[in-house]
Formats: sequence, structure tokens, C-alpha cells
Amino acid sequence: MADTRPNILFIMSDDHASHAMSCYGSRINATPNLDRIAQEGMLFNHCFCTNSICSPSRATILTGTYNHVNRVTTLATPLDSRQLTFPQLLQRNGYQTAMIGKWHLGHGGANDPTGFDYWNVLPGQGAYHDPVMIDMGERKNYEGYTTDIITDLSLEWMRNRDPEKPFLLMCHHKAPHRPWDPDEKHADMYADEEIPEPDNLFDDYSNRAAAAKNAEMRVGRDLNARDLKNEPVPEGLSEEEETSWKYQKYIKDYLRCVASIDDNVGRLLDYLEEEDIAEETIVVYTSDQGFFLGDHGWYDKRFMYEESLRMPFIIRYPAGIEPGVVTDEMILNVDFAPTFLDYAEVDIPIPWQGSSFRPILEGVVPEDWQISMYYRYWMHGAHHNVAAHYGLRTHRYKLIYYYGDPLDNPGTRGEATPPEWELFDLHEDPREMNNVYHHPDYALIVTQLKQELSRQQARVRDVPYQERQD
Ligand code: CA
Repeated sequence: MADTRPNILFIMSDDHASHAMSCYGSRINATPNLDRIAQEGMLFNHCFCTNSICSPSRATILTGTYNHVNRVTTLATPLDSRQLTFPQLLQRNGYQTAMIGKWHLGHGGANDPTGFDYWNVLPGQGAYHDPVMIDMGERKNYEGYTTDIITDLSLEWMRNRDPEKPFLLMCHHKAPHRPWDPDEKHADMYADEEIPEPDNLFDDYSNRAAAAKNAEMRVGRDLNARDLKNEPVPEGLSEEEETSWKYQKYIKDYLRCVASIDDNVGRLLDYLEEEDIAEETIVVYTSDQGFFLGDHGWYDKRFMYEESLRMPFIIRYPAGIEPGVVTDEMILNVDFAPTFLDYAEVDIPIPWQGSSFRPILEGVVPEDWQISMYYRYWMHGAHHNVAAHYGLRTHRYKLIYYYGDPLDNPGTRGEATPPEWELFDLHEDPREMNNVYHHPDYALIVTQLKQELSRQQARVRDVPYQERQD
């Protein structure tokens, strides 16, 4: 009997925020090919990562567990690939599997990808041009632009697959990660345009915990010469004008990288149609986390704030998902693995911590579906001086506890910082400019949210922070 389980084409980029996708209402660019996925499938407004940084999010996607369980808490804690992952389970259950592009979970020995018939990955962050790639353990040099090359290799693998068996292809782009190097084709895009600035590009970080002010990822102050492609800042600009100038440099390069991804996603979608397998193929487009696009005056991610917490997530499956549906239901990166197993008719391992959202994709929201989520950023101090924190997001509120302690974790930096709390009322303050944690009107809400935070921590078996007694 023919195997009628769906193919899964999982396309993931690195640091692509949903507010740089037109299907999410971007004010700053258009992504016609990504929009095809959303128009012909489902778009999630509330897909969140459980730790907004590259390696940890990737580990969660593969293992279906939070970072305190899979132990990839920071960028300096590579994945022990002997852990159970969803590609391993698909491979064991009759799927052809491949992983092409950015891995960023370490390589060599126990850190190499597992569960894939074929893998070919960038070492570490990888290069934008003429990349080295590790093809099943062997270093190879490629010529060209990395987003194109990853797509070429993905197409080649699909062309050579066994059409009798379903497949899982993980196509992972490096772009649009820093340092945002565009290809030649898009190098002059937006050259004669001004990209609109976010309304809080000149955020002064008042009414927030000190963590926001202490972060070192300001467009106006912290972008380096390489980020600005060594173009000198014009002389005679005021501080504000200089920030605006740097924002234009940054955002244009970022959006040029996104434009190349969009073109290349179009190539993959076209192939599925030419091959006449679009109907039975699940196509996902997502990114390992969000990104600040000048919001709060920042680039980068890490914070539990919306622009960083939110992952784009659009999914198309003509045989099983209605077209053009937008949902506000909450899904997390920890839910991806169980969902794919559900479609592949493979039992979900008991220690996994997410839930399949296949019912939501089929138009039925389970009665007990999650209405809050737990987040934890472990990488205290490192790179951009963001304090370690954990928190809870519900549909209306966000409670953040900056416990501010490196906890001797690899990849952290510096000393502990004084613990502090933030509460945002997302209905009243969607841009998260006004911490109401100490406001008396919210005292009861704070108590309730802390109880829910404790419940979530217990549920996912994480340990609340204990202040040091030294
Ligand atoms: Ca990333």
C-alpha cells in the first residue's frame, strides 16, 4: 500500500522577525513568496520561542524539550545529538530525511546531526558568500551566495529522493543573521528609499527595569564598522540623525537578505508544483526567533519582549489545512516536534514537553489548549549584556523576572546583577514601554501571574531562581 503520510518541508531562517514579512503586515518590505504560504495555509500570530537565541531554539525544535532539559541553554552548550530528536523518529519510521544549511549546534562527534539520511551544514555561523560546508562530515567549498546554495542543495536532494516514500527536509538559512551581507542581485534594493522608522527607535528606557538600559545592542551606539559595511558616518550629524542614518544602513541590508530568502522560498514552492507534490507536502516557514528591527532602539534578540519572543510561523498543507486562516492561538517552538510526529503517525515520546497543534491546524482548538507560556534566557551578560531572565506570557500580560545571574553557565559573562521585575499589560501597552509591576492597580494580577509562573515552572520541571546568600 502506498505511504500517504505527508512530506514535510521545514524552512527556517535565522533571526527573521515576523514584522519583516508582508503576510504579517510589515510596513517596511514585501515578501510575496512567503505570503503564498500564508495565503494558501495558516498564519500564527502567537508563535513564541522558549529562549530567544539561535542554538537553544534549534535544540528545542529538534528535541521537543526546554533548554534546561536538552542542556542547550546558551551558544556555548552544543547539542548532544545522542538525545532523541524528531528527525530520528521520522527516519526510523519510514521517512527519508535531510538537513541542509545552518545547524549551529556544534559539529564533530556527538554534536553532528543525527537522524538524517543526508546532511550538509554550515560550520558554526557560516559565511554569506562562498561558504565552507560540512557534507556528511567532509569539508567542502562552495562558490556563490549561501542562501542560493542552500536552496540548490535542497532542490537537488528532493530531485534525487525516492518518490515512493515521504520525506522530511530541513532547509535552514543563515540569513538574515548579522552581519547582514546581501547578494549582488539585491545589493541596490531600497537604494533610493527611506525605510520607515519604528515609533520607539529613540526609546530612552525610562519606566522599564534597568536591564533594558544596560543592554548593548543599540542601533545608534553599538553597531560596528563591519555591520555598517565600513561606510563612515557622514560628518556633522546630530546624535539622533546618526541613529537614523545607521538604522537605514542596517535595515536595508537586513531586508535585502530577506528578499533573497523570499526568492529562494519561491523556488522551492515552484518545485513542489512542478513535481505535483504540493498537495501532499506540509510546508513550514519559520525562524529560530524574532529580532528587533530598530524597535526599542535595538538590533538583536534575547529579551522576552515581543519582537524577539515572537517567531514567524506559516504553514501550508492543501490536503489538510484550510487556506487563508489566521489564528491567535499560542504555539511554541517546543510544540513543533510533537506536531510533525502527529502527522507522521508516530507516537510522541513521554518525556517531551510540547503538544501537537495538529487539531488547531484542522480547525479545532482543544479545550485545554495553552493560554500561557514559560520563557527563559540563560546567557547572562554575553555579547549584548542582557541580564538572564525568565517569565510568563499570557494572551494579555507579560511578567518578566530578571534574576540576573550567570549561574556558572558556559557562554555567560560578567557578574550577577540585582534582580528586578517587569509587568506589561499588552492590551494597553503593546510596545512594552511602561512597566506596571509596581502599580497598585496591578497588584492582584502580579500575584496571579506569579502563581501561574510557578505552575508552569513545575510543569516543565525547571527550578526557580534562588538568590545567592553570599
Ligand atoms: Ca537566530
